[in-house]
Amino acid sequence: MRVLVVGTVTLDTVETPQKRVEDVLGGSGTYAAVAASFFGNLVRLIGVVGADFPQTYTDFLQTQGICLEGLKRVAGGKTFRWGGRYAEDFNVRDTLFTELNVIADFHPTLPDTYKETPYLFLANDPPQLQLSIIEQVSKPKLIVCDTMDFWIHEEREALEKTIERVDILILNDSEAKLLTGESNLLNAARAILRKGPQRVIIKKGEHGAISITKSSFFSAPAYPLTQVTDPTGAGDSFAGGFMGYLASVGDVSEGSIRKAMMYGTVVASFNIEDFSINRQKSVQFDEIEERYRELEDAVRF
Ligand code: AMP
Repeated sequence: MRVLVVGTVTLDTVETPQKRVEDVLGGSGTYAAVAASFFGNLVRLIGVVGADFPQTYTDFLQTQGICLEGLKRVAGGKTFRWGGRYAEDFNVRDTLFTELNVIADFHPTLPDTYKETPYLFLANDPPQLQLSIIEQVSKPKLIVCDTMDFWIHEEREALEKTIERVDILILNDSEAKLLTGESNLLNAARAILRKGPQRVIIKKGEHGAISITKSSFFSAPAYPLTQVTDPTGAGDSFAGGFMGYLASVGDVSEGSIRKAMMYGTVVASFNIEDFSINRQKSVQFDEIEERYRELEDAVRF
C-alpha cells in the first residue's frame, strides 16, 4: 500500500554524554519514512531541504525505495537545523537550537500522483503545513498526526485546527499534558479525544506507549534495551513503523492498531542503537520480526 509522509528533513547536531555528531541526517519525515519503508510499502515523502543538503543523504533515502518527487531542494536555501543534548540517562533532552530556515517558507503543492495516497502520516511539522496537506489529499483511509512541544508553544491555534481533522493524534506524555493542561495522562487523552481525533496514542519513552479511544485502552511495552546510543527520532520511527504496518495490511481495526504499535516499538528500538539513521541502514525485516515475537511473548500471560 501507499503511505504519504509529510515531515522535516534536517541536519541534526546531537550531543550525548559519549559523543557529539554534527549535521547528520535527521528530521521527523526522514525517520518516519525510513521506518514505514521496512514494510514493503511505496513511501512518498513531502519535505524541503536547502542547497547545503548532502547528496549522499538523498541517495540513501532513494535506496530505501522512498519516492522523493515531493522533496523540494531550495537553491541557495539553508536546510532546517536542530540541535539537542541528552543527559546521562537519556530521559532528559535539551533542545539547543531550532533553525527553521527553508521550512519557514515551504507551502507545498502535492504532486497529482500523491493525492490519492490512502495512508497519510503528518510527522512533526508546522501545523499550517499539516493542515494544507489534509486539504489537498482526496479522502485518505487514515490520517495520523504527530506534534511536539515546539508547535504547542508557537502555533497552538493552528495546531488545534489540524487536530480537529485527524483520525489519530500521536504525541508524548509531557506534550499531551502541555496541550490539555491536564496532569493525569488518561484525562489528557480524553481531553484530546474531545478535540476531534478518534484515537490518541501517547508515547512514554522507555515505558512504552498507550492507545486510548472512547471505548478502548491498550498499553504496549518498550522493547527492553540495555545499550542506548541516541534516542533522537525514536518517536518518529515509532509512528512511521506504526503507519507502515497498517498500510501493509490495509486494515485499521483495533487488532491491527495494536500490532502496529508493537511494530512501531520494534522499529524505534533499532533507531536508538546508533546515531541518525545509521542502524536502520543494516536492519533486515527478519530482525524486526524476531523482536516483534519477543515483545509478543513478553506481554503474554
Ligand atoms: P524526536 O526525537 O522523535 O523528537 O525527533 C527528533 C527529530 O525531529 C530530529 O531529527 C529533529 O531534526 C526533528 N525536529 C526537531 N524539532 C522539530 C520541530 N520543531 N518540528 C519538526 N521536526 C523537528
